[in-house]
Amino acid sequence: MSCVGVGKIWNAGSKLAHEALTDIELEIDAGEFVVLLGPSGCGKSTLLCLIAGLEAPTSGVISALGERITGPAPERSLIFQETSLFPWLNVWQNVSFGLSVRGVPTEQRKETARQVLGRVGLSNAFDKRPDELSGGMRQRVAVARALAMQPKVLLMDEPFAALDVQTRVKMQDFLLDVWDVSKASVLFVTHHIDEAIALADRVVVLTARPGRMKAVVPIDLPRPRDLTSPALLALRVELTSLLRDEVDRAFAEQESISVTC
Ligand code: ADP
Ligand code: MG
Repeated sequence: MSCVGVGKIWNAGSKLAHEALTDIELEIDAGEFVVLLGPSGCGKSTLLCLIAGLEAPTSGVISALGERITGPAPERSLIFQETSLFPWLNVWQNVSFGLSVRGVPTEQRKETARQVLGRVGLSNAFDKRPDELSGGMRQRVAVARALAMQPKVLLMDEPFAALDVQTRVKMQDFLLDVWDVSKASVLFVTHHIDEAIALADRVVVLTARPGRMKAVVPIDLPRPRDLTSPALLALRVELTSLLRDEVDRAFAEQESISVTC
C-alpha cells in the first residue's frame, strides 16, 4: 500500500474549500503495523477514507498491490470507533454479511463465521444479537467481520476510543494476536501515545491541519511491550514533544473558528 504526494481538499473549487491533508508519502509493507498519531482534526480519518477508496484524493496517487485505488474493495476493511453492526442480524450473520453480498452459500458463510469468531475469542457469541454484547465484544465482532473478507489491509479509525481503559488494553493485546495470524497490514489511527507505543512497528506523526507528515518513528521492539521500560519511556517523551506543538496549533485554530463563527 502506498501514498505518493497525497493531498485532500474537501469541497475543492468551492467557497467551502478546506484543506485537510497535504504531501502524504507513506509506504506500508505487507504485514506491517503502522500507527497514525496526530491531533484532533488533522486529517487522520480523511486519510483512512481515501485509502479505503470512499473518497478520491485531490492530489497524488494511492495504490494497493501495485494498482491505483479508485474505489472501495473488501481487501481494504475500515473499522470505526462506533461499530455499525446490523441490530436485526445475529452475530454470525453480521460477520458473514459481506460474503452473503458475494453470494456465498449459507453453510460456507457459517463455517467462515465460526472460524473468524474463534480467532477473536467469540465462539460462544455465534447466535447472539448485537445488543446482547458488551462494547468490547461488539468491536471484536467488527474485527471478525473484516477478517471474514480476508483483508490485505485493515484500516482502523480509533477503534477502541469508546472503551474503558482496561478493556482498551485487552483489545490491543487481542488485536496484536489476530494481526500476527492474519498477516494483514494495519493502519491504525489514534491520538493516544501509549496505544501507539504498544502497537506500532512505525508511528507516523501528523501535524495540525492540513495534516502533513511531521515524523516517522520506528519501534523495533518485541511485543507484548512493557511501557514502563526505559526505552519505551524515552519514546513516550519523544512522541509527546512531537505531538505537543501540533495539539497547541490545532487548539488555537479551533478556538479562532469558534470566535469568528
Ligand atoms: P481527524 O480524524 O484527524 O480528527 P478529519 O480527517 O476527520 O480529522 O478532519 C480533517 C479536517 O477535514 C477537519 O477540519 C474536518 O472538519 C474536515 N472534514 C472531514 N470530513 C469532511 C467532509 N466530509 N467534508 C468537509 N470537510 C471534512
Ligand atoms: Mg477522526
